[in-house]
Amino acid sequence: LVSRDVKDEDTIIRFPGTNASIGGRDLAVIAGPCSIETREQAFAVAEQVAAAGAQFFRGGAYKPRTSPYAFQGLGEEALKIMAEIRDKYGLRIVTEAIDTEALELVNDYADIIQIGARNMQNYSLLRAAGKKRKPVLLKRGMAATLEEFLMAAEYIMSEGNYEVILCERGVRTFAEHTRFTLDLSVVPAVQRLSHLPIVVDPSHGTGKRNKVIALSRAAVAVGADGLIVEVHHQPDKALSDGAQSIYPEQFTQLMDEAGQIAQVL
Ligand code: PEP
Ligand code: MN
Repeated sequence: LVSRDVKDEDTIIRFPGTNASIGGRDLAVIAGPCSIETREQAFAVAEQVAAAGAQFFRGGAYKPRTSPYAFQGLGEEALKIMAEIRDKYGLRIVTEAIDTEALELVNDYADIIQIGARNMQNYSLLRAAGKKRKPVLLKRGMAATLEEFLMAAEYIMSEGNYEVILCERGVRTFAEHTRFTLDLSVVPAVQRLSHLPIVVDPSHGTGKRNKVIALSRAAVAVGADGLIVEVHHQPDKALSDGAQSIYPEQFTQLMDEAGQIAQVL
């Protein structure tokens, strides 16, 4: 089902009531904090990313943290805050379901269900997301081959949900100058084999704020259908991923530069 042998035409995912789409000609941009921390924080970031031209707002309600003692997310309270943000700014909401229990709530509130890198091969979660009727943003596992990535998407589609957005978010290598190595070559590789849209996450893909704009430009130039970027108004105080979160002013610059590159393609 993921293959161009079955369907050659590019999949375009549309959002009724908006002119936002993922796939096709327009660049889709998803931006927001790693985690929803407070109502004030979420609204402060949402206002600025909306003003800069993002069509989608991201924010974690359920966080897959390396340490069990680290901030785990506000859960349903965060989902409610994001629903208010949709109403106020018209942004479509993207948030992660870390397990089948969170999936039910995420499905009630969000516009796009995110499956994280650590869950890319959680087959029961993939099947459960495949039974939902909302688009799924599937992040590539940090050690997944292209075939494993596409087969994970196949699990979702095999349950009848054909609205899958692939996301490259960096893979593990020996490099120490970045947290992960953003594999931009996977974008044209996916596009040759599959009709599904693919977006790039330069935030997790580098782990470093000062590399996010450059890799965003590169992702657009290589042909990505969109970007997912972490933005925080006070990254030094962020409860997760502050080091890779860009300032709102940097996001405005990113939108300008990425937009110019998208236009010449
Ligand atoms: C995230 O988007 O905040 C996240 C946890 O991403 P990943 O699953 O790619 O690590
Ligand atoms: Mn994050």
